[in-house]
Amino acid sequence: MDKIKLRNDIILLAVILAAAFAVWGVIRLAMPAGRYAVVELDGKTIASYPLDTDIRVEIPSEGGHINVLVIRDGKASVESADCPDKLCVRQRPVSKAGQTIICLPHKLIIRIDGESGVDAEL
Ligand SMILES: [Zn+2]
Repeated sequence: MDKIKLRNDIILLAVILAAAFAVWGVIRLAMPAGRYAVVELDGKTIASYPLDTDIRVEIPSEGGHINVLVIRDGKASVESADCPDKLCVRQRPVSKAGQTIICLPHKLIIRIDGESGVDAEL
């Protein structure tokens, strides 16, 4: 009798541990990949880049103009652009869901997308 009870306890413990690990694993996996820099040109989404991967990409817009989007250390910013006002270049890097970098002359919006509730706590 006692042996069976002990075995059931071990199984129960194993199930709880497995569930805890699964939840932890999902959170770990979901967090870095949970946020994206979404690029919108003239109101249309043309690309999105995960914030956990460092990249440097040229975004062409109407009239042969260019904005250089850089993602580094989980933050997105415009490194350079040939727009007249350079407001997008001067904007601080964005990393939180809902933050945007806007280049009005090029009708370009770089928006951070993802679960906003998660990164508020962590
Ligand atoms: Zn600009």
